[in-house]
Amino acid sequence: MKSVTVIGASLAGLYAARALRAQGYDGRLTIVGAEPHRPYDRPPLSKEFLTAPATTDDPDQDPATQPALALTDTEELAELDADWLLGTRATGLDTRLRTVHLDTGRALATDGVVLATGATPRRLPGPAPVGSHTLRTVDDARALRADLTRGGPAQVVVIGGGFIGAEVAASCSALGHRVTVVEAAPLPLVPQLGHTMAELCSRLHGDHGVRLLTGTGVRQLHVGGDDGRVAAVELSDGRLLPADVVVTGIGVRPHTDWLEGSGLPLGDGVRCDAGCVTPIPTIVAAGDVAHVAGARAEHWTSATEQAGTAVHNLLAGRTVRTPHTVPYFWSDQYGVRIQFAGRRAPGDVPRIVEGSPDDRSFLARYERDGRTTAVLALNRPRPFMRLRRELARAQQPAATG
Ligand code: FAD
Ligand code: NAP
Repeated sequence: MKSVTVIGASLAGLYAARALRAQGYDGRLTIVGAEPHRPYDRPPLSKEFLTAPATTDDPDQDPATQPALALTDTEELAELDADWLLGTRATGLDTRLRTVHLDTGRALATDGVVLATGATPRRLPGPAPVGSHTLRTVDDARALRADLTRGGPAQVVVIGGGFIGAEVAASCSALGHRVTVVEAAPLPLVPQLGHTMAELCSRLHGDHGVRLLTGTGVRQLHVGGDDGRVAAVELSDGRLLPADVVVTGIGVRPHTDWLEGSGLPLGDGVRCDAGCVTPIPTIVAAGDVAHVAGARAEHWTSATEQAGTAVHNLLAGRTVRTPHTVPYFWSDQYGVRIQFAGRRAPGDVPRIVEGSPDDRSFLARYERDGRTTAVLALNRPRPFMRLRRELARAQQPAATG
């Protein structure tokens, strides 16, 4: 393979580039990124970046190069020896001619392709008034922070009580705003944590005076005056919530529109085998856009691990490796670190083995047939890591020979 193009210059794209060089690939490497920024970290955007004083943000500096966000530095960029096409969007992939089309009109011939285009927030239908936000990029976070710090305490309505919703609500509450979270499901985070543990985590909102309204969606946003600014959120049950700022976190859609017509199997992401390889072995996928062996992960650790696996198989020309790691994610809400690892299935029974929910500090095992399938911790990082390692060991394939 003499040329590889990585589409998406963020977490999975950067880790794919690193893995290519680390695994000995010395051919031409091109990285195409729609955002104008070099790779930066998204987790701080809903947490410390939002609550940091705006004065720490120099408008003349690329925010992606701030130490709290930067994923790479000039030294590494030189070592990677890649051609970075930032602020450039891939618009099509011709799998027969092995060509990537760009919005600049250029067509890039390439032997191998890593798809790392991530995901984009789902939006409510209708126009988005001033003061209404989604949060995915550093530019989104800058705009939201400017709105949250432009005056005194404000009424913030957060639509969606998932990860973005919970973390943004916690940050807004820390900034002194009055916050309401509106969640369509009877309880947020049930798909990830199961009912019992999701209920314990949802208590964090009430602890900090944040109102959680569940079991209701949103009908529409109302604009107040001539300035086009949001004034209220109308719920599907007719209730009207006054709002100065609205943040919508109702899930994401993988960035695959540009691949329509390419012949690659699409459907909730790019369909890959367990080794992140598409039916065309010279095209692999990693991160939020990759639907790997029947599932799509939307977490930091999966993106980095999939990138390494995908590149290994790309260079091998077929799937020779699949990840053996245990899925993991964390979330920081109201000063509490929530950590989860493993594969929980409906019906697995959580059992608290250390600490107490009343203290918002505990460790729980999810069990099935006497076996631990997953672990969850609130503010118990050390024992959590021990159980996470235990899970990983239990999952290792038995040694042969
Ligand atoms: P992305 O980070 O979405 O990057 C994809 C890149 O591809 C983007 O820059 C995009 O502009 C670009 N792109 C898209 N289409 C094209 C195209 N056609 N051409 C060129 N470029 C394109 N995970 C955790 O585990 N813990 C956390 O605490 C946590 N916090 C988070 C907080 C926030 C605010 C967000 C948004 C996410 C958080 N995540 C967290 C999730 C984690 O950040 C993602 O799983 C991770 O960013 C996925 O990386 P990715 O490279 O696959 O996709
Ligand atoms: P999410 O975690 O999927 O949560 C979205 C929530 O919004 C769900 O509970 C959903 O309920 C609810 N919802 C959907 N439509 C709604 C509506 N119209 N009104 C009210 N509620 C509605 O997605 P997210 O919070 O938007 O996060 C976006 C992405 O960032 C995800 O990929 C997430 O993994 C990632 N992220 C991760 C972390 C972390 O790992 N710590 C932190 C931040 C962001 P239903 O389930 O019933 O649809």
